[in-house]
Amino acid sequence: MEAPAPTNANRQRSLAEKSIQPDVATAADVATAANVAGPACGGGLFAPHVSPIGRALLGWYRSGNRDLPWRRTRDPYAIWVSEIMLQQTRVEAVLPYYQRFLERFPTVEALAAAPEQDVLSAWSGLGYYSRVRNLHRAARQVAEAGRFPRTYDEILALPGVGEYTAAAIASIAFGLPHAVLDGNVLRVMARLHADFGDIGAQATRKRLRDQAQRDLPHQDAGDYNQALMELGATVCLPRDPRCLLCPLSESCRARAEGLQHQLPTKLRRAPMVAVETTLLVVTRHCAEISAKEVLLWQRHGSHRMSGFWDLPEAHMLPGAALGATLRTFRHSIMNHAHRCQVMAAQVEEAPPGFRWIPRSQLPHLPLSTMTRKALRDLLGA
Ligand code: SF4
Repeated sequence: MEAPAPTNANRQRSLAEKSIQPDVATAADVATAANVAGPACGGGLFAPHVSPIGRALLGWYRSGNRDLPWRRTRDPYAIWVSEIMLQQTRVEAVLPYYQRFLERFPTVEALAAAPEQDVLSAWSGLGYYSRVRNLHRAARQVAEAGRFPRTYDEILALPGVGEYTAAAIASIAFGLPHAVLDGNVLRVMARLHADFGDIGAQATRKRLRDQAQRDLPHQDAGDYNQALMELGATVCLPRDPRCLLCPLSESCRARAEGLQHQLPTKLRRAPMVAVETTLLVVTRHCAEISAKEVLLWQRHGSHRMSGFWDLPEAHMLPGAALGATLRTFRHSIMNHAHRCQVMAAQVEEAPPGFRWIPRSQLPHLPLSTMTRKALRDLLGA
């Protein structure tokens, strides 16, 4: 007897059960999964308002994402532990630690009650131990409060939890609509929207976060976030994006314009240059006003700090009589790391371009930060 033709429901179940690795899921699988749950179904896998991007991504993800233990739970504690372990550590390295850690500390209360030495030993080998110290501290806070935080802001307030981790826990455990933005997501978003901004710059990160938040289907925030991260980890790879297998290839602007290998933009930071700087605090007593005065010069012209006042550097006053060292401090300007030595000095008279400024006026002048630090005692700061 001929086998009956598979129904949509059977096809959908079979796609969900066969655990396809996303990197081998075909466009046909993805399209089928999406069509099965298409908008005409009046329900199915997606909320009605999910955008085409959301629909394609969720269809792909649900047709066979990697079977990872933290994806089989909605327990906020277990998801939290996984997110902290996955910071700066590969999935393969985390897997055995995650299982063991949860066997040893199955609840947030168990973790909170454990001695620090036990917790450190369960983490031993994973590195970045501040993560586990913060996790332990936070577990004690949660246990003391008697409930796991349930809003993004409450989760963000936990020790060791940043914006990414808070968004991940809030969306995956509680279904709250907060977009995650990690390195993988930044790369996907920059390519998807052909954004050439430097992904190391705050302005670009904010723009891509806002975009990710706009793209986020609020009813499916947890799965969507995980799908985006999964896409970045397995398909939209840094050097070799696998656009032929990508569920978003139809919507991707970088692919449409052949720019996928040029994005994202990551500007190299200029290496820091060490600079030794000697600032001179030249003072005199002015009989006329019966007050102490300090020798300063003012920046002019097109200098980026035009109008600001500064102490002289030693090379500006070659004839100055140097006295004691008053203080040393470090100060960075752009890629220059200054090690500043502040010395007392005396001059016969003010050279051209310098002015004697009464000490009482110093707090009211625009002083460069370096000068402000050097004059801390005179400014009374
Ligand atoms: S089409 Fe290519 S570049 Fe665009 S999101 Fe997919 S893998 Fe990345």
